[in-house]
Amino acid sequence: MLDVISIPAFNDNYIWLLRTAGDKRCWVVDPGDAQPVQRYLESEGLHLEGILLTHHHADHIGGVMELATKGVTVIGALQDIYRLPPLNVQVTGGDRFQLLGHTLQVLELPGHTLGHVAFVALDHQPPLLFCGDTLFAGGCGRLFEGTAEQMHASLQTIANLPDSTQVYAAHEYTLSNLEFASRVEPNNPQLQQRLQDCRDKRAQNLSTLPSTLLLEKATNPFLRIAQPEVRLALQQYFPDASCKEDADAFRLLRSWKDKA
Ligand SMILES: [Zn+2]
Repeated sequence: MLDVISIPAFNDNYIWLLRTAGDKRCWVVDPGDAQPVQRYLESEGLHLEGILLTHHHADHIGGVMELATKGVTVIGALQDIYRLPPLNVQVTGGDRFQLLGHTLQVLELPGHTLGHVAFVALDHQPPLLFCGDTLFAGGCGRLFEGTAEQMHASLQTIANLPDSTQVYAAHEYTLSNLEFASRVEPNNPQLQQRLQDCRDKRAQNLSTLPSTLLLEKATNPFLRIAQPEVRLALQQYFPDASCKEDADAFRLLRSWKDKA
């Protein structure tokens, strides 16, 4: 059983730390800043064994050089080796490796960046997904490098994971994402309930993560492109655009969110 600890960084980043009970070893995902990680390691007397990187943006890799002292394994995408800090293990989609007694599988998820990967522990109950800036709670990452087709396909890859998968996204963007989502689907009761739950959590300064894939499928419009209500909202907002294909609808939805 892995414990996943959230270490807040900057304004709204989460650095996820993985550990198991009775073991001093741990791993972190996307340490954009070294200091909050080091503070946690010292306070808990932990030993950093490795670092997972989902993509090359500075707020995900900024702390790596400081944390990756001798003996720390750094794992990231082969595709981005020239944009990531030095890697000990270069991975591509489908690769598997061991981490604290569990098997992690690599998913290639181009869209936010072209070399973006995610890590999923499918042998963990429930499965754990570390998806960087691809899927957010209630939303998805911006298209900085990839196309709408690529991002839509990447989100479909995630949607094919088990519904019970715990979604560990890298930012606390949930409230603004759900506010946008409720403009797209004002009549989705689960979405309204989730929005209220997240408002309550944020009012108490609590994290809204992790989410579950089941909840995302029910409330995240970027995973609900095929729903008639989402299509109707897109047609009303973009009366002159065609959204016959799912990828077209995804592109429109993403551009609506970018302007919102
Ligand atoms: Zn990013």
